[in-house]
Order: sequence, then structure tokens, then C-alpha cells
Amino acid sequence: MDFVPRSRTTFYIGGAWVAPVGTSTSAVENPSTEDVIATVPTGSVEDVDRAVAAARTAFGPWSALAPAERAGHLRRLHEALTKRAEEIAVTVALELGTPMPISTRIQAGLPLTVLDSAVKLAEHWPAAETLGNSIVVREPIGVVGAITPWNYPLHQVIAKVGLALAAGCTVVLKPAEMTPLVAYVLFDAIDEAGLPPGVANLVTGRGSVVGWAIAAHPGVDMVSFTGSTSTGSLIAKLASDRIARVSLELGGKSANVILEDADLEKAVKVGVANAFLNAGQTCTAWTRMLVHRNRYDEALTIAAKAAGGYKLGDPFADGTRMGPLASATQRETVRNYISTGLAEGARLIAGGLDAPVPDPGYFVAPTVLADVDPNSTVAQEEIFGPVLVIIPFDSDDEAVEIANNSRYGLAGGVWSGDQERALAVARRMRTGAVDVNGGAFNPLAPFGGYKQSGVGRELGEHGFLEFMQVKTIQT
Ligand code: ADP
Repeated sequence: MDFVPRSRTTFYIGGAWVAPVGTSTSAVENPSTEDVIATVPTGSVEDVDRAVAAARTAFGPWSALAPAERAGHLRRLHEALTKRAEEIAVTVALELGTPMPISTRIQAGLPLTVLDSAVKLAEHWPAAETLGNSIVVREPIGVVGAITPWNYPLHQVIAKVGLALAAGCTVVLKPAEMTPLVAYVLFDAIDEAGLPPGVANLVTGRGSVVGWAIAAHPGVDMVSFTGSTSTGSLIAKLASDRIARVSLELGGKSANVILEDADLEKAVKVGVANAFLNAGQTCTAWTRMLVHRNRYDEALTIAAKAAGGYKLGDPFADGTRMGPLASATQRETVRNYISTGLAEGARLIAGGLDAPVPDPGYFVAPTVLADVDPNSTVAQEEIFGPVLVIIPFDSDDEAVEIANNSRYGLAGGVWSGDQERALAVARRMRTGAVDVNGGAFNPLAPFGGYKQSGVGRELGEHGFLEFMQVKTIQT
């Protein structure tokens, strides 16, 4: 690794690196070593005011550009970001702890794929529709405030900034406090690509100050948020005071339904890998595995073996499959959930609090809990760590009922030897996405939640249209 992260002292506002109004900073920690690796400024309401003003000024000219011109800007940004792919992967491995192979493929690779899709969407502006004597056109909504979390810190930013810019909107971004460095890498690329001043602005800082100021700002037309359901609810309330649009990507407690006739080995192994991706810090993670009772014991054996085979450690070491959790607080939360699960009657079949883990670093062993009551805390609440719960069922109907017994509805899986049977179960699941027999994640397909998992859709054409409004012109 020939790249060392550096502290930052400025925000990116109006096309330039500018000093913050205040002087306070926050530390960025490496969760694998517990060392502070850099500091970044913590912004104030005044910094947000400046950034929103810059975005408002830029909106007119940016939204008036021909789609091909906007696409040209975004293509240059894609090139500037592609040059930084290794820097992105290393930065996320350092500030979040994602093992390098996964960081390269997902933390760096996925946002580049999504940004490429944004370039193409910008080129193919939606055609006007004619309805009787009406012409129906799409127009960008205006200034977008983007507030993002730390678990996929560049992907979640590009899903908003990339598609909002493609739609002709301008943006003020506040990335998560724990992972701001990769956002700075994006803005280095934005600066190098020479995007028009003010179209994309960066202010780092605390959620309760900078995030609040963005969500409450009268100059912000739409707030696009990814994070916890509790913060999403606060943001929706702030935006509703001025009838601003919100897009919310929130928590999940997704079910992986393994029917009696499934390829069990594959279904369980893929399910375990899904639940433990990014140390379980994935909103779409299949954290509830539902298995037909006739295959239940066999599934437990496969799951326990798969969980026990994970190598935890330094994200830069060969063979590391799982890094630490993002912070000491996150580790504490996850450990408490494991204790609660056991206290509520679950049976530990892998990992747990006494399993050996690397030290230092905020590691939790991949943990599998069996015989979990579908109404218990660990089956209902999002844990955001490597904890998989396994629940038996007796029929397809009961599987659907347990899968839907959640306040969330973000993702899910279904496995069956009979594709039609799996599809029928998938259609009955109250959730924004379902992968049938291991169907792969599609970065062009709409992404978002039912119920308390969110409002609106991101990615692809559906995500692009979220940043637009519809005008009807009568002739
Ligand atoms: P997580 O637990 O995944 O960090 P949060 O919902 O707390 O989820 O954080 C997601 C993003 O929301 C972060 O950028 C955070 O700073 C921001 N945030 C947290 N609290 C608020 C708030 N009260 N208003 C606006 N943004 C907030």
C-alpha cells in the first residue's frame, strides 16, 4: 500500500476547497487498530448555509445544460474516480475495516458501476409523453441534500450524488462522521474533473448539526437519506414542515427463506455469506434464515461450519474474510444483542461472546443463533453485525408469514428446487427486493424498502426519476 490517508481541513463549496467557519475537528479511527488515522473539520449551520447557497446558484445553469453536456461532465468525473479506485479501496479498508478484496470489488467497484450508469442515464433524458392535449415533461427537483451512513460509504454517496447530478440537480453532501475520508477522495475527483462550481458541495460534521441543518434547510428541495430508521423518521419530520421531498433508505431485517426442496448446501452457504458481508453491517443482509423443519438440523450443521470458517483480522492481510465492526459503540451494541438473544432462549451454534477474536480492533466472531423465536428481539431488531438467527417453519405459508413478521421490508431470498414455487413465495414477501435461488444484485434495478425500510427507490432509471418532478403542459 503506497497510499496514506491525510487529515483534511477544508470543505468543498462552490467549486473550491474553503475553510470552515468554525475550528472544531473530529477524529477518524481505524477500527482494526483503534488508532486515529486522520481528522476532518466538523461543520456548522453557517457552513451548510454557504453550501446550500452555492448549490442554489449552480442549479439554474446546471439544470439548463443539454443532457449530453451533463453526461460529459459526469464521464470526466467517472474517469477521475476510476484513477482513484485503489485509493478508494484502501481508504475504506482503513476507515471502516472492509477486507481489501471486498473493498476493491464492492466499496470501490460498485460506485464506479453506478456512476457509469448515471452517465448513461444523463445522456438518455426521459422523452416527453403526450396525453391527449397535454405534454408531460420531467424536470430536476432542485437542490438535493444527501446524508449518508458509513457502511458502504462511497456507494451510498454515488447512488445519491451521481444520479442527482445526472438528473440536473445540484447537491450538498454530508457523509457519515466515521467514514468521511472516502468522500474527500470523491471531491478530489470532482475538483479534478472540473464540474461547474457549486453543483456538488461537501460539508462534514455531526448528524445533529450538519445533517439537521441540511434536512431543515428551506433552500433544500429534496433530502435523500440513508441510515437508521430512527434518524430517517426525524429527517422526514423536518422535511415535512416545508413539504420537501424525502427519499429514505433505512434499516432491514431480511429473511432468507429456504424451502424444503432447496439445494440446501448452496442456500445455507450463500445465506451465511450474505448475512456476514461487511461484518454484517449491510442494510440488505439476510439476517433471518428460515429453514423448513425437515432440513433444519442439516442446515444448522452447514451454517455453523460456514460461520466457523471465517478468518477475522487485518483488512490488508491475505485471507482475511471479515474485518472489525466500525466502532467500539457498534461492537458493544452487537455484543448486547447476542446476550439478549441467549437470554431470550436462543441456542448458540457458532461464535458468541467467548469466541476468540483479534485484539486490538472491534471484532465480533461470526455468530449463529438457532431455535430463535420469530417475535424475539434478535429476530425483530436490526443488529448491524455478524449475527445470524435461524428459525424453522413447516409450510410455505408459514415461511411467508414469518418472513413478513417484521416492521422492515428491504430485501430477502428464496430457495427452492422449483423456480415457480420460489417465485410464488418471492411475490408474497412484503419487501423491496428478493433474490430467487441466488439471483445476483443488479445495480440498475430499483433499490428500496417497504414498510419502515424506507420511502422511494434508488439506482437505475427508478432512482434517477426520484430526483425529478413531473410537469404537465396543456396545448
Ligand atoms: P447509523 O447508525 O448507521 O450511523 P444514522 O442514522 O445515525 O445511522 O446516521 C446516518 C447519517 O445520518 C449520518 O451521516 C449521520 O451523521 C446522520 N444523522 C444522524 N443524526 C442526524 C440528525 N438528527 N439529523 C440529520 N442527520 C443525522
